[in-house]
Amino acid sequence: MEKKRISIIGSTGSIGTQALEVLEKLQDKFEIIALAGGHNKELLDAQAKKFKPKYTVLAAKPSPLEEEGAIVRASRAAIAGEGHNTFYGDEGLEKICSDKENDIILVACSGKIGLKPTLTAIKNGINIALANKETLVMAGDIVMQEARKHGVKIIPVDSEHCAIHQCIKDISQVDKLIITASGGPFLHKSVDDMKNATVKEALAHPKWHMGKKITVDSATLMNKGLEIIEAHHLFGFDYDDIEVVIHPQSIVHSAIEYKDGSVIAQLGLPSMHIPIQYAISYPERFEGIKSKSFSFAEIARLDFEKPDFEKFPCVKLAYKAGKIGGTMTTCLNAANEEAVFAFLDGKIKLYNIYEIVEKMMSAHTVISNPTIDEIFEVDKDIREKTKELIKNL
Ligand code: MG
Repeated sequence: MEKKRISIIGSTGSIGTQALEVLEKLQDKFEIIALAGGHNKELLDAQAKKFKPKYTVLAAKPSPLEEEGAIVRASRAAIAGEGHNTFYGDEGLEKICSDKENDIILVACSGKIGLKPTLTAIKNGINIALANKETLVMAGDIVMQEARKHGVKIIPVDSEHCAIHQCIKDISQVDKLIITASGGPFLHKSVDDMKNATVKEALAHPKWHMGKKITVDSATLMNKGLEIIEAHHLFGFDYDDIEVVIHPQSIVHSAIEYKDGSVIAQLGLPSMHIPIQYAISYPERFEGIKSKSFSFAEIARLDFEKPDFEKFPCVKLAYKAGKIGGTMTTCLNAANEEAVFAFLDGKIKLYNIYEIVEKMMSAHTVISNPTIDEIFEVDKDIREKTKELIKNL
């Protein structure tokens, strides 16, 4: 079998490093074309040494002093026969995404930087394994439209959407999507606990080990809100047909209900290796990383409960933004991302995130069918206004 050629955007992040763990097990199935690793030069270099991509991409060119060190290291590496080219910034990402040698690109970076490269890859007919949900929240209509136009598959890495993707046989016969949520660290804590939460408490997710931004989103349940919007675009369901249920054990990763009342769910131990591996290998399945065999008896019980949208109002905001559509979800995403960064910097409290996003949404004038440039303009404008609002809190 010919090797599948893959590149990773965000190889040094949480999903990226786990993807490389998967790829290490599947070396006879995949060839790595390029790795983009943000600002983490040291880790990216280590990855390049180990996986030997054709080239790497860093977010920014190192300073002259760093460069001097890099040249010394590079010439040492060249002597050792380990040389590879490095490109920088947006240009570097564009280079990866227009490199038709790729069969698939794993978009695993966090936040808005995923959007442009994803669109470039789609326009070049390259399939996408999508871990970056912000791409669809910001510009889902455009992204899905382009994917259809270019015959590109978008395979979700997000565990819930990956679960739904695995359950669907005939989408026209599905009535409802049921997205599970672990409930995060504040599920059974009081609203006061949540209001006074420290960064450390918010980052202590009980089930999933993820990047910081998404972990805070899981604490406010905004992550689930973003996932509802993501599901709407990926599977083309109305918001009223997308339901959220709390499932603290994180074993059922999501489910679908067929017209005839049959419910199909996807289950598995909570490990991101499984959805990453599924998305990059689809339609094949490989053994790869499989920690241990699944045992219902060991899990013993699965609990479900109705989400409390009064305690976690961010989910309501996401439904509202999704139903309004247009640039409202771009606004929700930008305001949320800036508010989460401010919380991580200790500038605001956890509960302020909701208040800030709510305020920004109320003040936003929606563009119903925005162009991609309008989306970026709204994104920039909302971020500036959000920062201003945070300064004056
Ligand atoms: Mg998820």
